[in-house]
Amino acid sequence: MEIRTRFAPSPTGFMHLGGLRTALYNYLYARKMGGKFILRIEDTDQDRFVEGATEVIYDTLRGCGINWDEGPDVGGPCGPYVQSERKALYLPYAKQLVEKGAAYYCFCTKEELDERRAAAEAKGEVFKYDKHCMNLSKEEVEEKLASGIPYVIRMNCPTTGESTYHDVVFGDMTFPNDTLDDMILIKADGMPTYNFANVIDDHLMGITHVMRGMEYLSSTPKYNLLYNAFGWEIPEYVHLTTVMRDSQHKLSKRDGDAYYSDFIEKGYLKEALINYLALVGWNPGDEREFFTMDELVEAFDIHRLNNAPGIFDMDKLTWFNAEYIRKMPFEDYLATVTPWFDKVLAGTDTDYRRLAELMQSRTEVFNRVPDMVRFLAEMPEYDLELYFNKKMKSDPQVALENLQFILPVLESVPEWTETTIHDKVMEAIAAAGKKNGAVLWPLRIAISGQASTPGGAFEIAYLLGREETMKRLNAALAKLSENA
Ligand code: GLU
Repeated sequence: MEIRTRFAPSPTGFMHLGGLRTALYNYLYARKMGGKFILRIEDTDQDRFVEGATEVIYDTLRGCGINWDEGPDVGGPCGPYVQSERKALYLPYAKQLVEKGAAYYCFCTKEELDERRAAAEAKGEVFKYDKHCMNLSKEEVEEKLASGIPYVIRMNCPTTGESTYHDVVFGDMTFPNDTLDDMILIKADGMPTYNFANVIDDHLMGITHVMRGMEYLSSTPKYNLLYNAFGWEIPEYVHLTTVMRDSQHKLSKRDGDAYYSDFIEKGYLKEALINYLALVGWNPGDEREFFTMDELVEAFDIHRLNNAPGIFDMDKLTWFNAEYIRKMPFEDYLATVTPWFDKVLAGTDTDYRRLAELMQSRTEVFNRVPDMVRFLAEMPEYDLELYFNKKMKSDPQVALENLQFILPVLESVPEWTETTIHDKVMEAIAAAGKKNGAVLWPLRIAISGQASTPGGAFEIAYLLGREETMKRLNAALAKLSENA
């Protein structure tokens, strides 16, 4: 049997990380089993239509290397793959269910329902449709239909007993039938509800494994009743736990940590994100942590999906990201970091190539880059305290002396390259019998204003250029002599 999985997002305009992980697992499983991965757009809720939202889905998935075998833009034997384009197909199925007694027409108006809901709530009950229209005779129904009264079609759920099904991740799931509501299958506008279209399409598209968020665990008994009413085979269910920020909180839009785009904008690499996301909710059964997409396909196993919530640990992601950045080919790193340099260094003649060499191993997330290199564009305010360094045998007095000593040496550097700066300074230090640290520490502070910098004094002097280096050095001397 061919394994067929699907990702069935509603186009909201954003790709939630939980959704992306669902897509990933569906893709991995289909690839692993030599099956097919299908993309289906569930847009029956036209009120929530968002312009450009399907493009966000396509771009995100493709960008991450999650390619579908059948879907809206690539076609396939079960198309169309956009539910709104399948609209005409659902009503006949709902009518079949009416014939079988598994569904019924409902003519209750919104006002009537609101009234009954309010009454139930006043009694502290949860309102569930009360099967009011189930009691209409066939003739009454015919008459109302003929006179054009708006209707919906509801499913007829049992009210006693219980329903059980098996889930690959959660095991046997049992729900009392009186918790099931007679949900709407066809809305007044003739559109199917998400719940109905989802079942019809999973069947028509030959989906063998339904892998989706665990929020659908409790609706699944209703879906199974529909499958049974039609006499269709029920797919395997693989419900995935929610991706959480910590044990209490979901990833949230408000915290800017819910959407794929949030992370890309911050400067996370999609390869790192996918690698880490795969491990939030699944484990390979060994210590491996780094996976290419092909390696994930190879290692993936639905029986190793966790049934405890997946905690999306930002620090861990950042660690993955730093590792991926370190391994980037240099030219790719340079191209990626350039716009981040530009944010603070545009208009300076900083040697980006050299700066990138110094920055690559220090970059954890690209959005931290501007703050790390801003000092090259603008000398920051700094505290004289920075000149104290026990290990380097530096303090403000030493700094004053040694900077006075090094100023003419730097002035005498012929062509301003890292090598010439290095050689001249080191020669002078050796000839004077000084300690390297006691000169180089204050020099780096004087020209960067920071205790930690990408590269040392020579690299920074080179990047700043002769003129700026001398200007900063003179300013430091003035600052030191004023305060010493
Ligand atoms: N359209 C549903 C969603 O976006 C899909 C649920 C399912 O995969 O069955 O949550």
